[in-house]
Amino acid sequence: MLIRHGREETIFVTFVYAAIKIKAGKVTKIAVWVLENTRQVAERESKELTRVAFQQERDRLKSFFMQAPVGICILGGEALTFELVNPLYQQLFPGRDLIGKPLLDAVPEIRDQPIWEILQQVYQTGKTFEGNSLLIPLSRTDDGPVEDRYFNFIYTARTGLNDEIDGIMVFVFEITEILAGQKELQKAQDILNLAIEASELGIWRADFGSDQLHISDQTRAIHGVPAGKQLTLTESSAMIREEFRERVMKGIAYAVEHKQDFCEEYWIDPMDGSKSRWLRSNGKAYYNENGEPLYISGTIADLTEQKEDDIRKSDFIGMVSHELKTPLTSLTSYLQVLQSKATQSSDSFTRGALDQSVKQVKKMTTMINSFLNISRLESGKIHIDRQTFDMAILVKETEAETVVMNNSHTFIFHPVERTMVNADRDKIGQIISNFISNAVKYSKPGSTIQIACVSEGNEARFSVSDEGMGISPEDTGRLFERYYRVKNNTSISGFGIGLYLCAEIIMRHEGRIWVESEAGKGSVFYFSLSLER
Ligand code: ADP
Repeated sequence: MLIRHGREETIFVTFVYAAIKIKAGKVTKIAVWVLENTRQVAERESKELTRVAFQQERDRLKSFFMQAPVGICILGGEALTFELVNPLYQQLFPGRDLIGKPLLDAVPEIRDQPIWEILQQVYQTGKTFEGNSLLIPLSRTDDGPVEDRYFNFIYTARTGLNDEIDGIMVFVFEITEILAGQKELQKAQDILNLAIEASELGIWRADFGSDQLHISDQTRAIHGVPAGKQLTLTESSAMIREEFRERVMKGIAYAVEHKQDFCEEYWIDPMDGSKSRWLRSNGKAYYNENGEPLYISGTIADLTEQKEDDIRKSDFIGMVSHELKTPLTSLTSYLQVLQSKATQSSDSFTRGALDQSVKQVKKMTTMINSFLNISRLESGKIHIDRQTFDMAILVKETEAETVVMNNSHTFIFHPVERTMVNADRDKIGQIISNFISNAVKYSKPGSTIQIACVSEGNEARFSVSDEGMGISPEDTGRLFERYYRVKNNTSISGFGIGLYLCAEIIMRHEGRIWVESEAGKGSVFYFSLSLER
């Protein structure tokens, strides 16, 4: 019964519903074919079926067959002879001649298969049969190998004019490749899961506009979240130690806005009160086609043990450096006394030797101080004592010191205008000395080193340029890492902590530090700080 043109009508239809798209084992699209027979039924009843109309219907049916997006064939008579095969059906058997042949002649491999039985039953009972993901071993060509192939199909009986079954309509959709794809996907997923499990990484995901976090078991364990408890973003950020929280949140927000990956390291105090953990969180956001973020997801690595090792190491370094400082201080003062006494003597060798000793002891003090600094930095004990000062004066002081200490290179100190910044004066002084001593260390005696400090926009930009060995592009990005040294530099002594310290200090000033360099030509090291107006 149907309301059509505003009135109720009884119509007769033949229809087929076929699953044509299957995703992850679920049908996501079905096709519906409806052929209206009202007229034929009426005509048949009144025995007025004209040959022309019949022909028209046949044509309609035929074009429907030919264009249908599923394989369709008609098997006629008890022998189930292929009467009609549409192009998609033929594609299931690209190398076979089907038309006009009985099914068992054309596709003999189905003789002993359940499917043959089923066809017989449909023919005898007229009951439609639907198969989903059915395995039918078939070869594609006449002499090709029999393959395991999977199909969704429908067998429905065809009745002739006198209502007797005289054939079977077959609708079929091959899903072998879809299933294979799903299997591959599953395999890839399994491998990924194994790798994730082995790496002990936790996984998490946060949807935009929701406070809910989806977490893996490992993430749950790392954060000490009780089984079954849902974790919210608010709760998870509350676990991050206060001194890291803002930086982590800002880092993630920045990455989302700029469509970049993020990597943050921080301490958390787990929810269950277990001991603090040092985590590394890597992740990225995923966007819809309008570029709006949909969700962020990533991994969590528990690096507590490594971090604790690092802390032990740097505590040890700190302790040793601290112990070394006392004898070194007294050595320095004795040397200075001797030096001032020696100026009055005529023994030039002693004077020279003492000058050298003072220089070397000074170097050693700088080295030990940087070790002390690194351990202070890592235990969070480094403080930035800000004051407002003029970079011009600081650079002037450095100039005096540099010229006294180094006679191997030519220094050009470019004039610096009054440049006020608000920063830790001693630490900025250390960075300047560090840049200069590196320039001396990594360039040939006699070459020129230039020092400049200029205002640009609202920044003070300090630079040291040398004509030394330079740095190759693959190293420039890593110079500021702890203990990083360029490989072929081994003949020049050093620990690779100077620039790391500089970077950490500048970072705490919210400034920038970078290098421009060309291997073999020389380098320019820069840092910039906000101007104080
Ligand atoms: P160190 O000098 O003790 O090795 P730094 O952290 O000061 O440690 O420097 C790290 C590395 O950067 C050095 O080992 C060196 O390879 C490279 N480097 C630093 N300054 C320069 C420079 N002016 N020219 C070339 N290479 C440099």
